[in-house]
Amino acid sequence: MIEEQSLTMKAKDFLLDLFFPKKCVSCGKIDTFLCDKCLRKIVFIKSPVCLGCGRLSENGKFCPRCRPKNHLKGVVIAAHFEEGPLKELIHSFKYESLKGLDQTLANFLAAALKRYNFKTDYLISYVPLHRSRYHWRGYNQSELLAKKTAEAMNMYFLKNLLRKKKKTKYQIQLKRKERLLNLNGVFEVNKKVALNCHSGLDPESKNKILNPAFAQLRPGGQVQNDKTVSCSSCHSDPIRISQGKFHGGIFLKNKKIIIVDDVVTTGTTLNECAKVLKEAGAKEVWGLVLGKH
Ligand SMILES: [Zn+2]
Ligand SMILES: [Zn+2]
Repeated sequence: MIEEQSLTMKAKDFLLDLFFPKKCVSCGKIDTFLCDKCLRKIVFIKSPVCLGCGRLSENGKFCPRCRPKNHLKGVVIAAHFEEGPLKELIHSFKYESLKGLDQTLANFLAAALKRYNFKTDYLISYVPLHRSRYHWRGYNQSELLAKKTAEAMNMYFLKNLLRKKKKTKYQIQLKRKERLLNLNGVFEVNKKVALNCHSGLDPESKNKILNPAFAQLRPGGQVQNDKTVSCSSCHSDPIRISQGKFHGGIFLKNKKIIIVDDVVTTGTTLNECAKVLKEAGAKEVWGLVLGKH
């Protein structure tokens, strides 16, 4: 059965290569998405700066002056967006369904984390798309990047950690102030993942039913009285939900998390993601992107 499946896959790959041969996104050379010559034109960032003010900073951390305005600890940017073929690569990956670029691009992200000595105790997740946009595109480009980066770094990958509740306008079309308003309250931590301390670590766990006390709490819903809930898998570390609000997750408590997106502009999106993760107990949240727009 497995053999049969892999044969079908091979046949599919063969046909795809036959009708849509791989081509270098930048120069058109056959048999690769990015040839060596074009790869060498990408300028990787060696002297990271604070995203808020542009001053040199360790690993892209927010400087002491910009830190109070941000929930993120910093944003790691892999390469210069405007130099070499990076812009074209991201465009093809995002809008031309060249999903096969995920490995190439994730290698850039992993290389940046290695340059900055990120240890393997980070969890990796990604900026979510709204359901409707996900269905329209068929995939979330940031999710594919995060997954491959986690593999390359030997870090845990968390699927569906964040959810986008509302459809929003494209950030790129908005001014700075409007960006904040546009994203205000649109992200939430997926309670099924955050409350299960085995989330993401065990592929089976996402289908397990959570503690019945928690099942009563619908997304955004209210609980009448304070309740104590614990992980449905190991029943450890009970937490309290008080005043009808979801306060934190066992799993996220004191965790260090990296959120992947393709590009960053002002950092508003990543910062909103960091806000909800910090509220849910995360100790430290970083953004990780390919380039700065
Ligand atoms: Zn090329
Ligand atoms: Zn700064």
